[in-house]
Amino acid sequence: MLRTLVVVVLLVAVAGALFWSTFRAAPLPPPPPLTDPTLPPASPPAAMALYQLPTGIIHRSAAFAYRGGSFADARDFAMTAVLVRHPAGDLLIDSGFGRDIDTQVRLMPWFFHLTTRYERLASAADRLAAAGYDRARLRAVLLTHAHWDHASGLPDLAGTPVWVTAEEHRFVEDGGWITAVARTTGARFEEYGFEGGPYLGFPRSHDVYGDGSIVVVPAPGHTPGSVIVFVALPAGTRYAFVGDLVWQREGITQREERPWLQRTLADADAAGARAQLLHMAAIAARFPQIRIVPAHDARAYVGLPVLP
Ligand SMILES: [Zn+2]
Ligand SMILES: [Zn+2]
Repeated sequence: MLRTLVVVVLLVAVAGALFWSTFRAAPLPPPPPLTDPTLPPASPPAAMALYQLPTGIIHRSAAFAYRGGSFADARDFAMTAVLVRHPAGDLLIDSGFGRDIDTQVRLMPWFFHLTTRYERLASAADRLAAAGYDRARLRAVLLTHAHWDHASGLPDLAGTPVWVTAEEHRFVEDGGWITAVARTTGARFEEYGFEGGPYLGFPRSHDVYGDGSIVVVPAPGHTPGSVIVFVALPAGTRYAFVGDLVWQREGITQREERPWLQRTLADADAAGARAQLLHMAAIAARFPQIRIVPAHDARAYVGLPVLP
C-alpha cells in the first residue's frame, strides 16, 4: 500500500515537473536568411490610412503567450480590429469582439471558461457608427483566421462580405468547437486565392488592389487557412498583421513558440505554425522597418490612431 502511494506521488511529481518544463524558455534555432532580400515594391495611394478599433481585452500572462514568459508578467491581450482605408474600398482586418460576445462564448468548452476572463469594449460596428463611418465604403472583412475572438463581430457587419481562403472556409465548417462562433455568425464568406507570385519568401500572394499596398500571404499552422496581411502606407510605413501566428511579439523576437498546452489546444498544426514563426523571424531580421502586429499584442497598436 505504502509502496503504491510512493509510486503515485513520484509519478505525479514527474508529470508536474515535465509540464512545468514546457513553459521554460527554449528559443528555436535561428532561421536561414531570406533568399530574396529585397523589399517588394508598393505604390499606396495618398488617401490610404490605418485605424485601430479596440473591441475588448482578455487578461492573460506572458507565460500563457510564449515559452520563457513570466507568470507574474500580466498582459492584457488586445482584441482589436484594424480598418484599412483605401480609395478602392476599405477593409477591416478581423472583427474583434462583437455585440453578441456574451452569448457566443457559451459555445466554447468548459476549460475555455475556466481560463478566460474577458472585458468588452465597443464593438467594431458600434465604433464605425459612432465615427459616422459610411458602411458602404467597407469592401470586406479580411480575416487573419476564423477563431472566435476574430470572428465574433461579424454578425454586426451583416451584408459585408467576409474574405477567407478556401482552407479556412472549410475549417469554419468542420473545425469543431474552435470555429463554433464563426459558424453561427451568418457571415457571407467569400473565398479568395493566391494568384500572385512569391512575396518576402512566402511562395504565393494575393495583392488585393494590385498596387502592393495590401498583400495577403498564406501562413497555415495556427489554423489551416491562416494568413498574414502586409500593408504599406503612403508615408513608407510597412506593417505585417500576423494574426495569431504568435500571441505576443516575443514569439518572433525571441523565437519562442507557445507553451505545449497552448500549442496543443490552439494550433491546428504546431509544426506548421513553427515554420511560419521562423520565416517571420527571418523577415524581421532582414527588414526591421516592418512593424509586426500580433493580433493580441497591445504594444503593437501603439501609434496606430483609434478611429476618430
Ligand atoms: Zn486570437
Ligand atoms: Zn487564433
